[in-house]
Amino acid sequence: MNFIKKKNTLQKYNLPKKIIFCKNCTISNQRPRITFDNNGICSACNFSAFKKKLDWKKRNDELQRLCNKFRKNNGEYDVIVPCSGGKDGSYVAHQLKNFYGMHPLAVTWSPLVKSEIGKKNLENFIKSGFSHILGQPDPEITKKLTYFSFRDIGEPFQPFVYGQSNFPLSIALAYNVKLIMYGENGEVEYGGDMKNAYIPTRTMSDYSKHYFSNLSPNDMKKYNLNDRDLFPFYGPELKRVEEENIEMHFYSYYKYWDPQENFYYAKKNCNFFVNEERNEGTYSKYASIDDEIDGFHYYMSFIKFGIGRATSDSAHEIRDGKITREEGINLVKKYDGEFPKKFFKVFLDYIDIKEDEFYEIVDSWRSDHIWKKKNNKWSLRKAIWMDLN
Ligand SMILES: [Zn+2]
Repeated sequence: MNFIKKKNTLQKYNLPKKIIFCKNCTISNQRPRITFDNNGICSACNFSAFKKKLDWKKRNDELQRLCNKFRKNNGEYDVIVPCSGGKDGSYVAHQLKNFYGMHPLAVTWSPLVKSEIGKKNLENFIKSGFSHILGQPDPEITKKLTYFSFRDIGEPFQPFVYGQSNFPLSIALAYNVKLIMYGENGEVEYGGDMKNAYIPTRTMSDYSKHYFSNLSPNDMKKYNLNDRDLFPFYGPELKRVEEENIEMHFYSYYKYWDPQENFYYAKKNCNFFVNEERNEGTYSKYASIDDEIDGFHYYMSFIKFGIGRATSDSAHEIRDGKITREEGINLVKKYDGEFPKKFFKVFLDYIDIKEDEFYEIVDSWRSDHIWKKKNNKWSLRKAIWMDLN
């Protein structure tokens, strides 16, 4: 086992040392790139207020024009929709096909460890009338990448993020499709870099910056992996994407983005099912349920930033008017940071480590400004529910 060096989370993510919570939702200023205004309101809440006043009819007209520009009449696919069979991608693909007359090709990058419900939902989605391509890289390489990224960037999901971002681009080139439609712009909807808040598109440079945590597939060579190993995770050359005039758009620019409404839509139109039990670390049942180890992605966010799955879920449900801030705070107190024990063994086996090493890696990501240790027990220095007591 390697000695695991303590990471400087504060510096790496440029986090403010003093933790504050948004006065409107449950998010803190520890979410990377989020900003707070002088009234203590986060950028996601301010954006949410802006959204509620927007003229969505006008945005819908823009979507019509976009589809008119890209729609093909020769039978070929005209839009790529990245879609795992989850509620969001299903909603986007189904709408584009049935209300905008598009011919979507749905593409999925395989989860690391497919969950039963995820498999069933993907199958149901395809059955609801879609052509579909699954990208499935060599599992042995994926496992290695998962281990190294868990250890060195505190994010086991990194190899999935590579594929999810790059695979749709490769398929767009292969099938000569000029439009890629993503779901929501997470940076804007959930708090982050607001630079693209008022435009519909995403740029290549943004996503290597935000989504790859400055560790691109190419950087993975330092782990003794070669081009052949890493090829499935590479995206096409930026130059080619630009030459081919491929455009990447966010559906959340054109339509009011409400995850709960997407869920109802996908349930009704694509036979989408939810978990019978709530997801560990939160109270919700319908978000991010395709991968058995995604609990560890959320858990690491809790360790690094003090922001767990219940915080993320409650923050946007407060903004969407589904719950009050008071309710949100109680849900955070009850569920945030709950250990994902159901798939703990699955995760350890998958990346082939023992419990000791797992905890050593986890603890290497605990920053002193977020965590304290007393009697051998870790606790948060500041949590939103502490203000209640
Ligand atoms: Zn907020």
